[in-house]
Amino acid sequence: MMIALFLWQGLGASVAFAARGSLTTSEERDLGEKFITYVKKRFDLVEDPSIVNYVNGVGQRILDHCASPPFDFQFYVVQEDVYNAFAGPGGHIFIYSGLLVAMESEDELAGILAHEIGHVVGRHISEQIEQSKKIGLATLAGVVAGVFLGGSATATSAITTGSIAAGQSLSLKYSREHEVEADQLGIRYLTDAGYDGEALIKVLEKIRQKQWFGSKEVPSYLSTHPAVEARLMYLDTWIQVHKESTQENAKAGLSEFQKTRTKLIALCVDSPTAHHMFDAVLRKDPNNALGYYGKGLVLYEEGKKDAAMEALKQALALMPLDSDILRSLGEVYFAMGDYTKAINTLKNALAFDFEDVQGRFLLGRAYMETEKLEAARRTLAEVIQDAPDYLQARYHLGETFGRLGDLPEAHYHLGLYYKKKGPRETAVFHLRRAMKLFSENEARQEEIRRLLKGLSDGENKKVQRQLRSISGQGASRRTPVIKNSQSGFPASSPTGS
Ligand SMILES: [Zn+2]
Repeated sequence: MMIALFLWQGLGASVAFAARGSLTTSEERDLGEKFITYVKKRFDLVEDPSIVNYVNGVGQRILDHCASPPFDFQFYVVQEDVYNAFAGPGGHIFIYSGLLVAMESEDELAGILAHEIGHVVGRHISEQIEQSKKIGLATLAGVVAGVFLGGSATATSAITTGSIAAGQSLSLKYSREHEVEADQLGIRYLTDAGYDGEALIKVLEKIRQKQWFGSKEVPSYLSTHPAVEARLMYLDTWIQVHKESTQENAKAGLSEFQKTRTKLIALCVDSPTAHHMFDAVLRKDPNNALGYYGKGLVLYEEGKKDAAMEALKQALALMPLDSDILRSLGEVYFAMGDYTKAINTLKNALAFDFEDVQGRFLLGRAYMETEKLEAARRTLAEVIQDAPDYLQARYHLGETFGRLGDLPEAHYHLGLYYKKKGPRETAVFHLRRAMKLFSENEARQEEIRRLLKGLSDGENKKVQRQLRSISGQGASRRTPVIKNSQSGFPASSPTGS
């Protein structure tokens, strides 16, 4: 009963915010965290670290010229062929793969990101989300995601959590004043960062042309950012006045942009269209390495490994020593089962870019396949050190430890893998095994104890969620639900003991 009370209080706390004007910075940050957790579960975000890092790099370069950013910004690519971009709460900024593929330069990307940063710095999102929503932050996060990202599934799940009224009245369409202010802030950051402001006009014109072909269900850029016509006018005026300062950037970063765009096409665009696009590039310039690189990536996606290998070799001949091309070639060799070639190629790739976690992961895998277990362990452990959330690496590191006969470490890493990936029971099983086997290592035992506790706390949260969806707004007379799941771990779980 004590536990039931405690849970109920926890639930009450999440309903307590609001009743005032716009959100405070910390409320918005909190909402942002719930929002991004929600979005990650339900929408396809591009995960390729080289693409994600590139977009974040461009965003950070703009933010370097923003005096006091209110949040730690994060940038994401939504995998969908739509011309859209938006800023969610708490500095989480999204650009759609469709819009990114339609761009021609890094300056265009920077222009769109700078405008979204302007909305965040101007705190427009918190004003839009307005006061008075007497629903929990978690629910609100879902509602906001539904409005921004669309999709009936999202809307439905937000409604079942008891927020029909909120969902209907929440409009995230910026006012004209907000648009002007986002542009005023954005264009200053943009040009201070050395980008060409005219690129923003170019990309807005593309968006304007596309609106006539846009899908009805998916909210596009124009539904959250009205007033594009007016923006085109005053941005043009501003740029004419500030011409000298805005065009010194020339072509900086162009090739990095083009490479990222090439990867994105291979990843997000259907393969016949992608082939068309790269064929067109090669017709125009038969020596375009990125054209072959793109073909290679698409062919590999299609499972045509031999053809992919040939295309990548052509790309490499034109752009020797390029670490991305080398890594992709290494990946193709790996997929073909030619592990020795994979190891050599990947080592070459890493000689130029040792930070590349994907390349190191593949190298570790190739070592495993060739029974070089000690090298595999070292390589994968380094990947995990630099990227603790790289789950596949975590899994194979656990497996490598197992094959090396180091069972405590094997269970420990598999426990961490299943903790993130689920099922929870499997995580508990491995962590308990590790706990037993690390009998002489108190530090490790202490850490595992914390992890196990985290797993049972997470279970409590799940109960809260269930409770909320069962009881609508959260009025709760359902103590039995709480009591049952407090009875410990399910009897059927493989806990061993
Ligand atoms: Zn806007």
